Amino acid sequence: MKLVAEIFSQGEELVGGQIVDTNAAWLSGQLLELGFRVSRHTAVGDDLAALTALFSEIAGRADCCICTGGLGPTLDDLTAEAVSLATGLSLEFDLQAWEQIQSYFGCRSRPTPASNRKQALLPATALRIDNPVGTAPGFALCYQRCWFVFLPGVPAEMQAMYLTSIKPLLMARFVLEPDCLVTFKSIGIGESAIQQALHDLQLPAEVQLGFRAGINEVQTKLLFPAGFAEPVKQALIAQTAALIGDYVFAIDGVDGIQGDLLDVIDRQMQHHRYSLAVLETLTQGLLSSQCLGKSWLRSADIAVDLPRLVEKWQIVLDAEHLEAAATELAGMMHRCYHTDLVLVQLYVGPENHFQDRRQAVVLYNALYDGETVMTAQHRVAGTPQQKQNQATQLTLDLLRRFLQNRCP
Ligand code: ATP
Ligand code: MG
Repeated sequence: MKLVAEIFSQGEELVGGQIVDTNAAWLSGQLLELGFRVSRHTAVGDDLAALTALFSEIAGRADCCICTGGLGPTLDDLTAEAVSLATGLSLEFDLQAWEQIQSYFGCRSRPTPASNRKQALLPATALRIDNPVGTAPGFALCYQRCWFVFLPGVPAEMQAMYLTSIKPLLMARFVLEPDCLVTFKSIGIGESAIQQALHDLQLPAEVQLGFRAGINEVQTKLLFPAGFAEPVKQALIAQTAALIGDYVFAIDGVDGIQGDLLDVIDRQMQHHRYSLAVLETLTQGLLSSQCLGKSWLRSADIAVDLPRLVEKWQIVLDAEHLEAAATELAGMMHRCYHTDLVLVQLYVGPENHFQDRRQAVVLYNALYDGETVMTAQHRVAGTPQQKQNQATQLTLDLLRRFLQNRCP
């Protein structure tokens, strides 16, 4: 039986819909990875009675609960008070917490506001969790069967404290047997086509297969239960990857190539020390903006007015001459910028088809390495924004395919 964890988020902004509970999503991923079964997410506003009642309920049904928010210095930050009411533990002044709060302000040459003293009041017997990036310390305590952890709501503070303090404490405190989730990330193939490709895959009943179609990628997931035989698992992973084919750009959950498409490209570009020039058309700058700050991107040309570019460079751009046009443009860019690689994106279709969500346009990508041209053609459909998102991923994916083919 898996240990049960709950996540509890406090704040009026959450229940009022002004902010989305990203803390719960992030923490769920972390706790699942450790081997807990996350049974519930709850959000409560700044209501002392509701908070107190909820702590008592969770204390009777979960093994662990991580709570975020409500640790600040203002009147609406009620977490410690609610814990004290629920557990009967008095709030005691923690000198070390107070010194840390004072040093936070001291480093910034600001006087410590008197209201921040409240953040140094922790339930008696609670373990203080230091906050290396903000003012509010967290704390942890056992109440009935549940080990409660209280962290600040600010996501960067919460995540830093979880990773440095809470995760090691959870691993030491609980005997956990994590399942193994393996995620195949692909581009250029839909989830139904993947399901079709996996038709002959023989999965044992205890291994779960799932799909998730996101904006930028399709994920195929295999969930192996704890203790599943390693050689069988490795064989199933290899078989699944082979059946989906080279649409797969990364496999998370096993050693090897992980991350999103740009991570994969970035690592390969750095590994080979390649430089890149890009000419983008349909995506109007979206592609280069995704590569902002990457040292290998040496030049990014955005030809929003494709007909004028074609006229200026006297290139024929129609469905029959796409390859010749892309090759010619890539060669011109190569002579101009002297980069190792040139990525050219073109598209054709009647002028109004880009705007019309019911119409598709033909996207044509070319990658030139100074010797040969590698090309890919796709149809992209949907709203202009959807067309641009798809085109960005598909153009980058040609670069990824080139780089992964170069892989030793
Ligand atoms: P503070 O010292 O800032 O008051 P706190 O622990 O009291 O810290 P909150 O006041 O609840 O935290 O939240 C501070 C900010 O952190 C919120 O305005 C919001 O931007 C962000 N935040 C809080 N809870 C969440 C959450 N569950 N998901 C995402 N962001 C959150
Ligand atoms: Mg607050």
